Amino acid sequence: MDETGDYELDHIMLTRGAISERISELAASISGEYGGGELIFTGVLKGAVIFMSDLVRSLDRSVDARMDFIAVSSYGNASASSGAVKMIKDMDTCIEGKNVILVEDIMDTGLTLSYLKDTLTARGPETLRTCVLLEKPDRKKVDSILDYRGFTIPDEFVVGYGLDYAGKWRNLPDIWCVTKR
Ligand code: 5GP
Repeated sequence: MDETGDYELDHIMLTRGAISERISELAASISGEYGGGELIFTGVLKGAVIFMSDLVRSLDRSVDARMDFIAVSSYGNASASSGAVKMIKDMDTCIEGKNVILVEDIMDTGLTLSYLKDTLTARGPETLRTCVLLEKPDRKKVDSILDYRGFTIPDEFVVGYGLDYAGKWRNLPDIWCVTKR
């Protein structure tokens, strides 16, 4: 993605209806597996905020869902291949002995999620699962680390439903492809 370019919305890749339907399915799977127990949803700021908000509201009432957030710095091209990602905001909750689901908007190379998974695993949770709304398998650089996946998409840059371009378009209810103006 050319950070200096001027982009515009091109077409909708996933409608709000399709997203909502898929989130209900994911929430049903999670509720079935964790119903009755405490479950800490840990969202990666800022992209996962909207997805996680809808996901937790679709869970069965029997799930004792808690919410927390972490933020990471985005790596530059130079460090992308090394997987160097830095946590810039940690979560508040102690997860030792707890059930945790790490929630991310999109998995591209997978380096961010892989780093976060390793970091949280080192804290000794009872279980740690990963949940992403979108996966771009074409660019994957890590072994399979996904437990819950909303959609598999082609290698196109998407915005909306929490995903941004230079801070813009997170508020769109549908997921769009962008094009260079
Ligand atoms: P990864 O470490 O998996 O390569 O990158 C994950 C991060 O890259 C996501 O959390 C997101 O911030 C960004 N990203 C990757 N692909 C896209 C995309 O198509 N659209 C947007 N808005 N962000 C993306």
